[in-house]
Amino acid sequence: MKHTSSIEVQRVSKRYTDDPEVAPALDDVSVSIRHNEFFTLLGPSGCGKTTLLRSIAGFEQVTSGSIQIGGQRVDQLPPYKRRVNTVFQNYALFPHMSVAENIAFGLEMQGLERSAIPGRVKEMLALVQMEHLARRRPAELSGGQQQRVALARALAPRPDVLLLDEPLSALDLKLRKEMQVELKRVQQEAGITFIFVTHDQEEALTLSDRIAVMSAGKILQIGTPNEIYERPQHRFVAHFIGDINFLPGQLRQCPQNGHLFRPDGIPVDIPCANEANARTGIAQLAFRPERSRLVDPSEPHHLRGVVEAVLYVGTATLYQCRLANDIKVMLRESNEGATSARPVGSPVAVHLPPHACLLMEA
Ligand code: ATP
Repeated sequence: MKHTSSIEVQRVSKRYTDDPEVAPALDDVSVSIRHNEFFTLLGPSGCGKTTLLRSIAGFEQVTSGSIQIGGQRVDQLPPYKRRVNTVFQNYALFPHMSVAENIAFGLEMQGLERSAIPGRVKEMLALVQMEHLARRRPAELSGGQQQRVALARALAPRPDVLLLDEPLSALDLKLRKEMQVELKRVQQEAGITFIFVTHDQEEALTLSDRIAVMSAGKILQIGTPNEIYERPQHRFVAHFIGDINFLPGQLRQCPQNGHLFRPDGIPVDIPCANEANARTGIAQLAFRPERSRLVDPSEPHHLRGVVEAVLYVGTATLYQCRLANDIKVMLRESNEGATSARPVGSPVAVHLPPHACLLMEA
């Protein structure tokens, strides 16, 4: 019987040095990854994504904590005894071998019967749609094709888990988008767990079943792309995933309206619907530029400001506005059916629907 969870990381810390001045690369990290999940580790450079991936693979020894794969504790096992495989950023294909030979490499060592190897190679070539290029050498392939071979080679031994460390970062933007679609398809067809590392938030949102957002060796939030985008629980997460505005102020309970937020220095009460994390007192209100609405400045009860910069981005126009108390915000207005651009210097008022308001601790 398969375990419901594919990978259990429990209270893992990793220090590369004994120097207490140096912060640990992983600081008490716990995460459960499910079978067949496309799970992404997302965060800025140096936050510990690769260290966590390498610890699961067995290339790094953890300093404390435990790692289980398919119910078996593996943190003391060497990499080849863990049923995981890794796709590296630089593909690491063997240049003197054909595509088919690259994919076959390792199958014999893994103990697969010699007679079964051609069949497995063919199956993998079909999975990544490379049957017609089986005899080529890596140097005769495009970047995207090389990426497919690396993927097929890593999947050939049928690992329980595939670890992918920024596998698309060497590709140009258009190819990268195509390969994102491919990766997702291959993951679903192969039916295995993918743990994917990226610092690209858009890539993470598009591909993942769930995302862990990391910063400074810690996991700050784990959730579906929608939860991470719509309900960030930390300022860092909110900021890292897409554009967002923050207003400092005071939150108070209101018998009729749930919570009201009063921005510092702005005499407006903003009703907030998302009070799950709310604590009254000093707080921050965050909102996405596209969730606010620009309204007629003569309407009362709205945040008021002046347009300082206009950025046309095709489908929408972004307005950088200055509100009272010198607060700058970015607002977004769809160009579809928009009357006309609001020039620099024009007064604006901003309506925040209660569901657009994200409350965070200051
Ligand atoms: P990137 O996106 O730049 O690859 P990352 O999020 O994958 O970053 P890690 O490579 O895991 O981050 O690094 C986490 C921290 O551990 C960093 O401060 C890094 O300098 C440090 N570190 C990583 N590898 C080693 C090592 N072999 N020896 C010492 N310190 C290391």
